[in-house]
Amino acid sequence: MNKKIVSELAKIVGEEYTSTREDVLLTYSETASMAKDPVAPGAVVRPGSAEEVSQILQLCNKHKILVTPRSGGSSLQGEAIPKPDGLVVELLRIKGITLHKELRSVTVGTGVTFGELDKFLNQHDLWVPVAPESALVCTVAANVAVNGAGPGSSAYGCIAEMVLGVEVVMPNGKIIQTGSEANPNAPGPFLRYAFGPDLTGLFIGSLGSLGVMTKVSLKTYKRMHHFHYETYGFDTAEQAEKFLIEVKGNDVLPMFASVYEGPVLNFFMDMVGEEYGIPEHEWPHRTVSMTIGRLREEQLKSDAKKAKEICEQLGGHVIGISELPQGEWDGRLWTFVRTCYVHGWHWRTLYHHQTPTNSHRSVEEITAAMDKHGFLGHTAGFLSGHASFNLYPHFYFDPLDKEEDHMIRAAHDELATTLYKTGAVPFKLAEYWKGRMEGMEDYMKLLSAIKEALDPNGILNPGVLGGI
Ligand SMILES: Cc1cc2nc3c(=O)[nH]c(=O)nc-3n(C[C@H](O)[C@H](O)[C@H](O)COP(=O)(O)OP(=O)(O)OC[C@H]3O[C@@H](n4cnc5c(N)ncnc54)[C@H](O)[C@@H]3O)c2cc1C
Repeated sequence: MNKKIVSELAKIVGEEYTSTREDVLLTYSETASMAKDPVAPGAVVRPGSAEEVSQILQLCNKHKILVTPRSGGSSLQGEAIPKPDGLVVELLRIKGITLHKELRSVTVGTGVTFGELDKFLNQHDLWVPVAPESALVCTVAANVAVNGAGPGSSAYGCIAEMVLGVEVVMPNGKIIQTGSEANPNAPGPFLRYAFGPDLTGLFIGSLGSLGVMTKVSLKTYKRMHHFHYETYGFDTAEQAEKFLIEVKGNDVLPMFASVYEGPVLNFFMDMVGEEYGIPEHEWPHRTVSMTIGRLREEQLKSDAKKAKEICEQLGGHVIGISELPQGEWDGRLWTFVRTCYVHGWHWRTLYHHQTPTNSHRSVEEITAAMDKHGFLGHTAGFLSGHASFNLYPHFYFDPLDKEEDHMIRAAHDELATTLYKTGAVPFKLAEYWKGRMEGMEDYMKLLSAIKEALDPNGILNPGVLGGI
């Protein structure tokens, strides 16, 4: 990157937080994602405040420098891979947690991870009940930027449902506050849907392409201490899917409910069975592994009874192995994620939502792709809201084996098209969905027009949001 620009950046954030060193650029050239090849940026800066972010964006606009916002770098769809000679704006220095006890909300600086937030709220017997499995390394703000979901979502939905407002630096450098706090006289974050249309929503899932969030305000809840862990067996996919719908429809509160096919569960057992202390079992065609959570014990007992009743009415049976859901739930912030890497594999994913009753269609398509291309993978997913199911299939491969790498890219591309046709909804609108969403041309044009209006020079993470 041009030396003069680098020295102007250093004036904004300080020499110690500006780098063009080759080893630093190499570090920031990639993320946890295997969806895109690494790209070295021209420079990296680590601002310490919203004002510094604002000055950086103004400078980049003036010189038309492409900017990639980056936090924990744990995203999986290539969203935080830089542009050649572009600028990485790494946001982890912007910390700070403010609890608004009476408003039942909390405000975090953009560099705060879910792990840090949970540790803080635990002291007050509170929590934000939704967190991704990468909670210890990933930031709350970036999870909002990718519209994440994870344990807790089965009851409360995606992270979007927790958000009350954001402070965001627009591409032109203006700092905007959304939600109730847009009124500087308001006592704090207590209402998201205020002052006209939902401007907070504009930044949720925007993959850092419409603005850089510097603060996020979220709802807090009294921390639950009562959980019921159970596994439920079914002979057909339809029974298991109906079970999830009935559980939600009867107001049972599943904090995390995942569905496993027999062979996938055996595969999973191979990875974590011993660690979670799960006994040997001949798993049925479909297993639902569910943690119910409640504030009060009597609510929990009633929910557990109702879940058993629903299961049996549908022709299923209670398996009675609680170690699987307990391992998933108790280890949700730190051990669960390790299962992805137990064998040292590299993997690609294709995050999407289905309705629970259509999730078997994704399983069919993914299994067909595994059979056709001959790769190892899994199809697991979990209940992720009012009536949605989050699939996070893993496709394992060896990136050093060129043939395998090529094959997995082809399979990934093919699946994006076939899954969309089954009704899949890509809640993280990654670049690889571009051109595959037939019938959504006008929608994409509107999104494009919004991007152009907010970022006329196209400096902020161009190309990542469905190719926009
Ligand atoms: C093993 C593993 C398990 C995972 N499990 C889950 C899971 O359960 N649920 C889930 O949702 N995700 C999961 N992820 C994906 C990833 O952890 C999430 O997407 C996470 O929210 C990314 O946060 P980050 O801080 O690492 O962001 P980064 O990877 O640094 O950035 C992610 C995106 O957000 C943008 N961005 C970053 N900071 C800001 C900001 N302040 N303002 C605007 N845009 C910004 C970036 O430009 C990029 O587009 C998993 C990842 C791994 C490796």
